[in-house]
Amino acid sequence: MRYIAIFIDPVKSCNLKCKMCYFSDDKKRPKPTTPIDINNIDKYKTLFKRAAKLQIGCGAEPTIYKHLAELIQKGKEYGIPYIEITTNG
Ligand code: SF4
Repeated sequence: MRYIAIFIDPVKSCNLKCKMCYFSDDKKRPKPTTPIDINNIDKYKTLFKRAAKLQIGCGAEPTIYKHLAELIQKGKEYGIPYIEITTNG
């Protein structure tokens, strides 16, 4: 059986500017984008239902996303067995 791992940066920003990171570089800093709309998560239920892992935070800071708890709850509702958050906190 194949499994799916979902990697999400719910926001594309960070509260820090570490020297080695693109968030400290004016030329390479990702342009701010609209945060993931928590109300749209169910559009991806086909993926969520089959996922073995939900990784929240890949190249930005997920704890500044105001719907983080709801995103985790969605993962739980879809039965994702492994939910991980990578944070600078
Ligand atoms: S994303 Fe990570 S490395 Fe980059 S500024 Fe934020 S905490 Fe630092």
